[in-house]
Amino acid sequence: MDTAFASEDLAFRDEVRTFFAQAYDEELDSRLSTPDPKVYKQAIVEWQKRLHEQGWIAPGWPAEYGGTGWDATKSYIFETERAAAGIRDVVPFGLKMVGPVIYTFGTDEQKQHFLPRILSSDDWWCQGYSEPGSGSDLASLKTKAERDGDDYVVNGAKIWTTYAQHADWIFCLVRTSSEGKKQEGISFLLIDMKTPGIKVNPIVSIDNHHSLNEVEFNNVRVPVANRIGEENKGWTYAKALLAHERTAIAEVADSKRKLEQVREFARAEVNGGKSLLADPLFQKRLSDVEIELMALEFTELRVLASVATGGAPGAESSLLKIRGTEIQQAVQELRMEVAAYYQGAMPSELTAEALGHAFGREARQAYMYGRASTIYGGSNEVQKNVIAKAVLGL
Ligand SMILES: Cc1cc2nc3c(=O)[nH]c(=O)nc-3n(C[C@H](O)[C@H](O)[C@H](O)COP(=O)(O)OP(=O)(O)OC[C@H]3O[C@@H](n4cnc5c(N)ncnc54)[C@H](O)[C@@H]3O)c2cc1C
Repeated sequence: MDTAFASEDLAFRDEVRTFFAQAYDEELDSRLSTPDPKVYKQAIVEWQKRLHEQGWIAPGWPAEYGGTGWDATKSYIFETERAAAGIRDVVPFGLKMVGPVIYTFGTDEQKQHFLPRILSSDDWWCQGYSEPGSGSDLASLKTKAERDGDDYVVNGAKIWTTYAQHADWIFCLVRTSSEGKKQEGISFLLIDMKTPGIKVNPIVSIDNHHSLNEVEFNNVRVPVANRIGEENKGWTYAKALLAHERTAIAEVADSKRKLEQVREFARAEVNGGKSLLADPLFQKRLSDVEIELMALEFTELRVLASVATGGAPGAESSLLKIRGTEIQQAVQELRMEVAAYYQGAMPSELTAEALGHAFGREARQAYMYGRASTIYGGSNEVQKNVIAKAVLGL
């Protein structure tokens, strides 16, 4: 890849590498990997603040709102170096979801108040789209917001709300009208999680972690000033956000790093005197995934290039989401195979001290949680419907 980079890009790559080497260390990494949600939150905020001080927290944002103004090549280099250094991506809800909605559709007051607090990670956001009866058919949502003077009064429930337990704010789709088409009666509200009437109920997922929640709203008063754009036009803003969300879910750079780890661990895994990497069947499976990933990387670069020149991600984001998550799951399956017996031990026995590495535990947790990636952000089946309509015109 080096030969394609201009000398200015190579200098930038060195700058990024040096920054990551200096600003991110093992101590921070271990706090970020802890199952203790409070320690995790503190550590991620600390890391995001370091990125913010460096001016690199929001590469995708326009420069006038605090973005970096990088072109597609620099954004690509930054992402690749971040993943290669084993550093997780930023929490997306503020920076990659509601931030772009606020700078695109928000009022000046909303921009001035919320954007700096998203950039500095002083506010933690969560996403209130899905409801117990509305997932794929999101427009059927029932959480109701009724006008009462300068407020809306919100009643209903959201579900699968990732990190609601940490959140200061939630962006919510609410029903403000039952007239006409269901998409036409939805509004987009920004709600302070400290408002009386909000209750967060935890849901523990198959990987034994608590990141998911149900959020109940009982007569929650939300100022009309916290509505994005026009009443009943929330579906338009919600869809723009989903395109950003789906592009981010592809996680190409992270899959590349994880595939390299698979290669590394497979080389070290010896059975019957031969390394797993020397097994032709394993090699073929590894190469198949590498080729798919390379193809996806070029598609992602095309989307990045169009976003860098002022475009917005469209139906390509559905394509990136489908292939990106399928490849993530293929990588997770390869990692499970390499971890072999080590992933089968009970979590309490599976300490890095006992086994000499944490790979087995990580492989299993990632595999378990990874089942969800083809569901969240809109299931892959539904993304295929989006492509059929938007690209094939069916
Ligand atoms: C780990 C995780 C984190 C999440 N985080 C959040 C969050 O932070 N905020 C939030 O709002 N939501 C979140 N979600 C919810 C997620 O967006 C929904 O789960 C998703 O949209 C699917 O909705 P559902 O679960 O209701 O499934 P359903 O809509 O009931 O779908 C069930 C099955 O039917 C299929 N199906 C449904 N309709 C069609 C169709 N028209 N054509 C073909 N197949 C179809 C689906 O593909 C799926 O396989 C999260 C989900 C998970 C698993």
